[in-house]
Amino acid sequence: MSAAHPCGAAPASWLERAVSVAPGGVHSPVRAFLAVGAVPLSIRSAAGARVTDSEGRTFVDWVGAWGPALLGHAPAEVVEAVERAARSGLLFGFASPAELELAERLIPRIPGAEMVRLLVSGTEAAMTAVRLARAATARPAIVQFAGGYHGHADGLLASGGSGIATLGLSATPGVTAGALANSLIARYNDLASVEEAFASRPGGVAAVIVEPVAGNMGCIPSAPGFLEGLREITRRHGALLIFDEVITGLRLSPRGAAGHFGVTPDLTVMGKALGGGMPLAALAGPRDLMSRLAPVGPVYQAGTYAAHPLSVAAALATLSALDARPDLYDRLERTGERLERGLAEIARAAGVPIRVQRVGSMWTAFFTDQPVRSWDEARTVNREAYATFFRALLARGVLMPPSALEAAFISAAHGEIEVEITLQAARAAMQELSR
Ligand code: PMP
Repeated sequence: MSAAHPCGAAPASWLERAVSVAPGGVHSPVRAFLAVGAVPLSIRSAAGARVTDSEGRTFVDWVGAWGPALLGHAPAEVVEAVERAARSGLLFGFASPAELELAERLIPRIPGAEMVRLLVSGTEAAMTAVRLARAATARPAIVQFAGGYHGHADGLLASGGSGIATLGLSATPGVTAGALANSLIARYNDLASVEEAFASRPGGVAAVIVEPVAGNMGCIPSAPGFLEGLREITRRHGALLIFDEVITGLRLSPRGAAGHFGVTPDLTVMGKALGGGMPLAALAGPRDLMSRLAPVGPVYQAGTYAAHPLSVAAALATLSALDARPDLYDRLERTGERLERGLAEIARAAGVPIRVQRVGSMWTAFFTDQPVRSWDEARTVNREAYATFFRALLARGVLMPPSALEAAFISAAHGEIEVEITLQAARAAMQELSR
């Protein structure tokens, strides 16, 4: 493989080495910065609202590790808990007192849940939720939304959000037609398209899986009534409703999006913020559904690293930190408001059309003058303008998601200073864009 980075930019020295030992020089596609035509960053350390790269440059970070850094990077209480746990052994391969405590503390925070299974990644948790839904209903089809993302399990890649959207891929070779035969794609915020999907497979739909606020085609709020509508349609058809709260869980409220919007799904998938930066995911639901999982029931799911002791320790410390800061969600909201208002004003003054879409601490600056409510609208935003904006901010020490179609995240560590630095950088960026 040639040592040139696909973006064509002059590669930093680490990148020349990296591209010859890893595809694109990275280990997850969006890290390559292809969609923004920039040299990717190689991060050496992260603390609070800042990341520092291998060249010693520090950036105000709005990526937040793609969601997990709700408390900011490396919060002291979480790091200490992980260090303490490590001294008691890294991995046991058996049940542990800490995971029992976590299950007992987590379940009351998940509307509708009586039991939980702890896993490693959001991909695994969503894949298991779908398997469980199919087993419980004895039906094959799953309704997903265009532009959604539920991890990279074959049957769930049909919706095409996140890196697939970022890279503009229309299909993923290696995923068989058979694996996608039971994937029905509806339009986000469009209940009629969901009814159509159900009508196309009478009696055949096991579940609808949805991000209660979309975060993988940029931040798209669910329209009022959309989640309630999904609840009603799934009930009417005897199908299950799965909330993929990998991003929204603990982030939108202490009880996730389900708590925030007051809609209770049948199954909930969590990840990201739950592990506070350590790999941890959860699948939760009522006892009758969860009891279908092995060893009680026949639906198989297992994992060497499931409920990893260091991740469980990080999650317990994260829950304690959230409990200790009841004002956290107000603070995130205030930071978000300042940022949203500031960016909108700066763009207006510069005559650059943008729409800042935000729900709590999830947000996206879409370069368009129209609201973005679904994938067909998200795909029409001006990605080149976003790439220019991204590069202009990066040059001024502000790191945004390296894709027009990935949500940005506010953490507890972001305050007025970070907002001010970002708005100042944005002012200069908008000047460039209005030229
Ligand atoms: N669901 C959603 C909503 C996600 O945003 C993601 C990751 N971006 C996943 C599932 C997959 O999680 P993981 O990357 O931990 O496998």
